[in-house]
Amino acid sequence: MPSKTKRKKRAKGVDYGFATQTARDFIQLYNVDWLPVDVFELVDRYAEATNQNIQIKTIEDLSFETKIDRQSLIDDVIYGEDGLAIFDPDTNTYSIIINEKAEPYGRIRWTVVHELAHIVLGHLSNSKTSIVMWQLTEDEYNDMEQEAHIFAGEILSPKFIIYRIGAHSSAEIQDICGLSIAASDSRENAIFELINDKRKMHDSMLTIIPTFAQFLEFKTICIEKDKMRIKSRITQNTPAEKQLSILKVNITPEGKYERCPYCGNNHNADAANFCKLCGSSLFESQPLTPTTPCGKIGEKDASFCDHCGNIVYKTRFGLLFDKDEL
Ligand SMILES: [Zn+2]
Ligand SMILES: [Zn+2]
Ligand SMILES: [Zn+2]
Repeated sequence: MPSKTKRKKRAKGVDYGFATQTARDFIQLYNVDWLPVDVFELVDRYAEATNQNIQIKTIEDLSFETKIDRQSLIDDVIYGEDGLAIFDPDTNTYSIIINEKAEPYGRIRWTVVHELAHIVLGHLSNSKTSIVMWQLTEDEYNDMEQEAHIFAGEILSPKFIIYRIGAHSSAEIQDICGLSIAASDSRENAIFELINDKRKMHDSMLTIIPTFAQFLEFKTICIEKDKMRIKSRITQNTPAEKQLSILKVNITPEGKYERCPYCGNNHNADAANFCKLCGSSLFESQPLTPTTPCGKIGEKDASFCDHCGNIVYKTRFGLLFDKDEL
């Protein structure tokens, strides 16, 4: 497993430092750069980068595969928990089983990363194919559970990012990180501890903050608005006025206007297909038609996505912000 941190021989007790540092390395190695973290995509990205076979299965998937009813699977496979990571030494495959009906949804997201943690932290092996009580001593079980929770907390709500945003209350953390109330309460405590021990802040500040640079700045985002959190705070920039092609504009060898012929904007990026201020195509012939929003993060003054031509919304910290707050 390519982790910068190597665990010394497993000591007794919870290895806080190892779990925390592994999570911070993970953020950098696998480019965790946005909140709320897309946990399913994260598992795929990690599996692909490390060339491991990790499958996420819901109880429903498993029930369909095995023809065993839901309740029996919940009772006898995941032991009434929200999820379980299982290693199969014969096929060298990891499975993350989740109860997709656990409520609230934030809990499922936590479970996915918690189970991933058991894989990333090297808890599973030929002799310990899952972290369940009857395979381990009680201390060993509790230590590994604790480490997996530390890892999940740092990935889903990185302390330094939350601190930087100034989201110190549980409710704000819940909103920005997409966690359950219980998880947000525990993160609120972790952040409070950090504020009281500023020495710890320094190192990670320098490594983690740059990863989240786009997330921390005022930007625009090309997205369907109902895919973002906080729907009541949607704001867009006012589009520039189009004045029917009154400007004489040079055309590049690629058949592209050197500046927008409709609103005169000459601050479009070299790779832009559309004018970010008025949304016109920058190509002289074969104007491209905007399709569904492409997800691109754009400059904060944009009214349109310069890649796909859709309207964009103002964003910061993964939220859609009101004009007054910018
Ligand atoms: Zn666990
Ligand atoms: Zn324009
Ligand atoms: Zn776009």
